[in-house]
Amino acid sequence: LPEYAFIGRSNVGKSSLINMLTGRKSLAKTSGKPGKTQLINHFLINKNWHLVDLPGYGYAQVSKSSKKVFQRFITQYFKNREQLVCGFVLVDIRHNPQPIDLEFMQWLGENGIPFGIIFTKADKLKPKAIENHVEAYKNILLETWEEVPNYFITSSSKNIGKDDVLGFIDELNSNINSNTFT
Ligand code: GDP
Repeated sequence: LPEYAFIGRSNVGKSSLINMLTGRKSLAKTSGKPGKTQLINHFLINKNWHLVDLPGYGYAQVSKSSKKVFQRFITQYFKNREQLVCGFVLVDIRHNPQPIDLEFMQWLGENGIPFGIIFTKADKLKPKAIENHVEAYKNILLETWEEVPNYFITSSSKNIGKDDVLGFIDELNSNINSNTFT
């Protein structure tokens, strides 16, 4: 089955987003504490695709060696996934573009892994500020890339952006199906 991976810094709101997308409160536990999602979790959605919940990156308090282990783990995941259609990098809409997120996107791009950006916690900003932050992201990405990846503005607490993300995935899934000649 086609697979879509969700990844981002710890505390970015990944568990909350996954709960919103799946419509089930109990699937991914949220907590204010960073580091809750340790392992890869798969969720079967609509019986036709897998949502893959990857561990959060960028903990401030971990050692260099565990950062290395984590990096290897993530790169292994992305490099060996034939089913992976698209990765979604989550970023908190309130922050300016962060080096760690930009580096990760850069790495995905260089390795030919398609990705989209999901801005989280949009309820925390006014529309004008949202626009400014998205614009800042676009500008910095356009310094390196010719195109801006698909992006989505979401709020799990206000239930914003769910249909955009799910609609995008459905569209990719139907493209896959119509391109399969067996
Ligand atoms: P994770 O560590 O990336 O899985 O992040 P969580 O989903 O556990 O969320 C981290 C914190 O951000 C929690 O305190 C959530 O309640 C809060 N949070 C997550 N999504 C939203 C959102 O859309 N709006 C607001 N206001 N808070 C959010």
